Amino acid sequence: MASVTISDMRKSFGKHEVIHGVDIKIADGSFVALVGPSGCGKSTLLRMIAGLEEISAGELRIGERVVNELPSKDRDIAMVFQSYALYPHLTVAENMGFSLSLKKASKAETEERVGYAARTLGLEALLDRKPKQLSGGQRQRVAMGRAIVRDPQVFLFDEPLSNLDAKLRVQMRGEIKALHRRLATTTIYVTHDQVEAMTMADEIVVLRDGRVEQAGQPMDLYDAPANIFVAGFIGSPA
Ligand code: ADP
Ligand code: MG
Repeated sequence: MASVTISDMRKSFGKHEVIHGVDIKIADGSFVALVGPSGCGKSTLLRMIAGLEEISAGELRIGERVVNELPSKDRDIAMVFQSYALYPHLTVAENMGFSLSLKKASKAETEERVGYAARTLGLEALLDRKPKQLSGGQRQRVAMGRAIVRDPQVFLFDEPLSNLDAKLRVQMRGEIKALHRRLATTTIYVTHDQVEAMTMADEIVVLRDGRVEQAGQPMDLYDAPANIFVAGFIGSPA
């Protein structure tokens, strides 16, 4: 586990700046929801943290370490995406172990870590199946398994439940929270669903047009939104 400290972080695509000096401090082991309307920069911010997108300016620390220049694979971060594209020709076990094979982990270590992830997510009975033999929720669990096997310092989720139906979404919320309680891995969870943010997060960061509008505990944002935009977004009647 590690804290994540974002200081005056900026991102430009060509001449167009889309993240305008963002500051966020995420405590070691906490679960932070990053919310805001479509296009406000949530995915871009997450991709910069993951090392999938270059940081134009500012500083990113994981723990005490400045990681701006560190390649993605060395950042100790695992990301779960909205479209959890599993490899269709690989089994559940192979999908979960794939990143370890790239790191040249031993067969025994791979089996142990995949076994641990499978037990954590209740996937033991499905290890030999192919993705097309799984339900949507099971596929999403495999995508989370791929992240868990890497035993990261930080989990990043980018709208992981938006492809699931409403009932499954509620169930998976509970599972992700249970996972966080169990592993206590620092988590940044992007969603445009305020209910998800309110029910899951220790802290919510509201983003608008590449800037932080307000950050705080869910009930504080609900009770004392800084402005109309936050009030509208968090759903307070104020
Ligand atoms: P969100 O995830 O909150 O919906 P994004 O981070 O995807 O928002 O996008 C934020 C802004 O950055 C949008 O205006 C989007 O068009 C722009 N953007 C994202 N990725 C690129 C890119 N690769 N090239 C140019 N503009 C981009
Ligand atoms: Mg996005």
